[in-house]
Amino acid sequence: MAKIFCVANQKGGVGKTTTTVNLAAGLAQVGQRVLMIDLDPQGNATMGSGVDKRQLELTVYDVLLESATIEEARVTSQKLVDAGCSYDVLGANRELAGAEVELVDVERREKRLRQAIAEVASQYDFVLIDCPPSLSMLTLNGLCCAHGVIVPMQCEYFALEGLTDLVNTIKQVHANLNKELAIIGLLRVMFDPRITLQLQVSEQLKLHFGNKVFNTVIPRNVRLAEAPSYGVPGVVFDPASKGAQAFVAFAAEMVERIKFM
Ligand code: ADP
Ligand code: MG
Repeated sequence: MAKIFCVANQKGGVGKTTTTVNLAAGLAQVGQRVLMIDLDPQGNATMGSGVDKRQLELTVYDVLLESATIEEARVTSQKLVDAGCSYDVLGANRELAGAEVELVDVERREKRLRQAIAEVASQYDFVLIDCPPSLSMLTLNGLCCAHGVIVPMQCEYFALEGLTDLVNTIKQVHANLNKELAIIGLLRVMFDPRITLQLQVSEQLKLHFGNKVFNTVIPRNVRLAEAPSYGVPGVVFDPASKGAQAFVAFAAEMVERIKFM
């Protein structure tokens, strides 16, 4: 049965999408069966996985409105198949922005995705959900299905502030909607060890959160930033780059972690 993880942080530009697509590719590369769900109307994780969001007939929007199943809506990118690390994509595009409003009046609105995933969970080892930069109904839908939350963060001063809101939301969802939910871990991303402040914040994180901080650290690496314009994750775009290697190590760390879940 799949283990389901949300990649969440209500801040934008912190590396959620980069983490989601590269972890998906890293896991696929070592033979894990992965479904990547894009829950952000920007559709960056969709495009970054080699799927053109403008050409999609069915997306996660249709799944949330129960007009399609995941089996009907999922796609794969030929580029990733050719590269030998293919994963399934439940894509998103601008249409998804409307779901927020359309779901206001429906029953069990925060559990729509959870029910849809349950139908395909036996086909995967991992389901990874890329959340939008907000604590909205969409993110709530993600948190309601997940076993754990992966929180990418840059080691900067204000990073810790935003974390409190996210941790409180996770606690509330755990208490009221999803007993299985836990923070699985904080992932330090875009890390630059030459910057003293980053080293200090990194130490503080370890002090506060102990083993909830992943061992793997993702360095700042331009190859990871270049990859999306080629429609592939960095792990596929330049496997030898420091960023790609860090994500492959992170995938291995995740495979180890789920053995104890
Ligand atoms: P989010 O999904 O949280 O908004 P993204 O994953 O889209 O964040 O990342 C924001 C920007 O930073 C993107 O342009 C991305 O390419 C870049 N980026 C992310 N991680 C790294 C990294 N480790 N090194 C260099 N650039 C990165
Ligand atoms: Mg994003």
